Amino acid sequence: MARYTAANCRLCRREGQKLFLKGDRCYGAKCALERKNYAPGQHGQGRKKTSEYGLQLREKQKAKRFYGLQETQFRNLFEKAASRKGVTGDNLLILLESRLDNVVYRLGLASSRKEARQLIVHSHFTLNGKKVNSPGLEVKAGDVIKVKEKSQSSPKFKEIKDMQITVPSWLTVDTEKLEGKVVALPTRADIDTPIAEHLIVELYSK
Ligand code: SF4
Repeated sequence: MARYTAANCRLCRREGQKLFLKGDRCYGAKCALERKNYAPGQHGQGRKKTSEYGLQLREKQKAKRFYGLQETQFRNLFEKAASRKGVTGDNLLILLESRLDNVVYRLGLASSRKEARQLIVHSHFTLNGKKVNSPGLEVKAGDVIKVKEKSQSSPKFKEIKDMQITVPSWLTVDTEKLEGKVVALPTRADIDTPIAEHLIVELYSK
């Protein structure tokens, strides 16, 4: 299935939650959810009756949209999480957070996960000194992500050099060098994404 590109704000309204799909706009008064905090469509403001299955499905859709994955990619990631030791739901969130596009976003080197994906696909980054163009790559502890030398003079990245960026505790960033490091992989407690992962596990366990 093709990636959903139109009307990202409708996805947030559908989930009733900010998914941060449009960069800076998501943090201001122009955010559609600030003005229309109800589901889109004719019956968007009507009474909601949600079954257990409906709740599980919505949670999966929300997680998928939050991280910008397609159905098959998400399902494959779930299978990978289930095959690993530990709690499947925790593993799933850790795998989602460990995607290169998410890490670039969390480092503040892109304003959204979508922009991070585009920048990675266009080869603006290196991973441990090597060119990389796969947004779904799984990072490891100790990995260094850097804006490629040639790309550092672009206005987009020059702007970042003057910024103060707060990153999660499992990452560090040096904006002057346009470089970030994965100090350690995140634990579930480090991940603030508002997702009830047990609902997704229940959905896929049916
Ligand atoms: Fe979602 Fe961002 Fe649109 Fe707000 S501006 S509704 S957070 S995509």
